[in-house]
Amino acid sequence: MGVKPISPHHPHYQHQHNHHRHHHQPLKYCDVINNIANGSGPEMWPEKYPIASQGKRQSPIDIRTGDCERCSPQHFPARRALEMEYPSHMDNLTLVNGGHGWRVDVPPEIAQKTLLTGGPLEGTYRLAQFHCHWGKNSSCGSEHTVDGKSYAAELHFVHWNTDKFSCFNDAAAADGGLAVLGVFLRSSPEANNELSKITSMLCEVAFKDQRVPLRHRIDIRKLMPDNKVYWTYPGSLTTPPLYESVTWIVFREPINCSEEQLQCMRTMRCHEKLNEILDDGTQNPDESLVLENFRPPQPLYDRIVRYVA
Ligand SMILES: [Zn+2]
Repeated sequence: MGVKPISPHHPHYQHQHNHHRHHHQPLKYCDVINNIANGSGPEMWPEKYPIASQGKRQSPIDIRTGDCERCSPQHFPARRALEMEYPSHMDNLTLVNGGHGWRVDVPPEIAQKTLLTGGPLEGTYRLAQFHCHWGKNSSCGSEHTVDGKSYAAELHFVHWNTDKFSCFNDAAAADGGLAVLGVFLRSSPEANNELSKITSMLCEVAFKDQRVPLRHRIDIRKLMPDNKVYWTYPGSLTTPPLYESVTWIVFREPINCSEEQLQCMRTMRCHEKLNEILDDGTQNPDESLVLENFRPPQPLYDRIVRYVA
């Protein structure tokens, strides 16, 4: 299949919109991905990406706990528990504003030291990047929901199958190519210290395509819950091109983050840095903030969600 050079959070069609920066109207988040108000959010994706409405394994989903099939790791072909390995301190990470939120890119030499295997996965997967989805307030923001309940945000750790594929983009477009770990963030009085290493630097990547080396080394195990009970199901990327290539592994237990940390995320911009004053003399309006960037739950169809405990 004709694989375009994309990454799950760099939909190629964004670039078609770059010329908008020279127009009087600044590029808004809604032009790119997700704002329902102006009619170009997820409900408009099917126009360019028919799979958005025609696909039978789209993500995210509402996880109905009563309908899940409880199983042990023995159920899966690998017949062993999910296994995760991450260096205790990852350095040389890059924080990026991808146009609809922040992303942390993992360089190949660090990715080589990561491992995700076992459980529902066949073969070896390695971490390429992680990013976050959030809402304009803490009553929504996660992409997956549990019995209809949203969390304030959701972290996605994107891994690709390095046994079967030679590069991330090939894996992203192929069944079995990606495995994404989902971690719910719950708004709480206590901040997550590891997440602060990222949120404290978001002001340095306020604008689309800005990137900066993370100043602190990150222990991403601290961005995951202690209890690794999870749900798993076959799904898709949650942003265009929405490839149905993802084995989802969503941890049941959320981790805590503070309102202040969430507020830092909501100050990000979805457009490139513009001159303060536009051609027509107006200021860049606030609608260009990435106030929310989650896709709502999609139909489950005949898929089975497995609860692995
Ligand atoms: Zn995501």
